[in-house]
Amino acid sequence: MFVGHYSAGFALKAVKPQLPLWVLLLAVQLVDVGWSLLILAGVEKLRVVPGFLAGSPLDLYYMPYTHSLVATLIWSAGGALAYFLWRRGQGLNAALIVGAAIGSHWLLDLLVHAPDLPLYDNSAKVGFGLWAYRGPELALELGLLAASVWIYARACPTYARRAWLLFGVLTLMQLANTFGPVPPSGSAVAVGALVLYLLFTWAASRVERRTA
Ligand SMILES: [Zn+2]
Repeated sequence: MFVGHYSAGFALKAVKPQLPLWVLLLAVQLVDVGWSLLILAGVEKLRVVPGFLAGSPLDLYYMPYTHSLVATLIWSAGGALAYFLWRRGQGLNAALIVGAAIGSHWLLDLLVHAPDLPLYDNSAKVGFGLWAYRGPELALELGLLAASVWIYARACPTYARRAWLLFGVLTLMQLANTFGPVPPSGSAVAVGALVLYLLFTWAASRVERRTA
């Protein structure tokens, strides 16, 4: 899953409006940020296999430290703790929501991935495989995103216009991802993902900037 992950971030904002959108949008992709870095470090591995699944050419055969269920729970707990220490004043439930945002990544990936998500280590892999169906997978990503931006826009009307602008950008990136060329290498995938995740985090901070 790609931009559909952001749906969890936009929706959770409505639960706790004090949480900055950029924190939530970074949190929902945090394990993929870690994944990009570990791919570049050669610790986790993938192969680019054209036609692997209709909606994704990535054979993600080794990612125990970022995409196993146990690892995701550890990332969640770590992220929640870090947020609690940073913003103690927002209370424990703000930190728990950040943890939930981080954990949402695994659940949404579960819907679309081939069985390449380990429950622990590199074992007991699961994945419902919606990526094998390009149209329905695309509809799921964009449908979740649209619904969540609508929820966000109702909770934070001041930022609604800019949130829909970001929705437009994310939609274009998703279309490019779904219909664009097969990436040349695993490192190219990782660099591209890292750059986009950081750009989207920055864009989320712009959505909520205060105007005089
Ligand atoms: Zn992922």
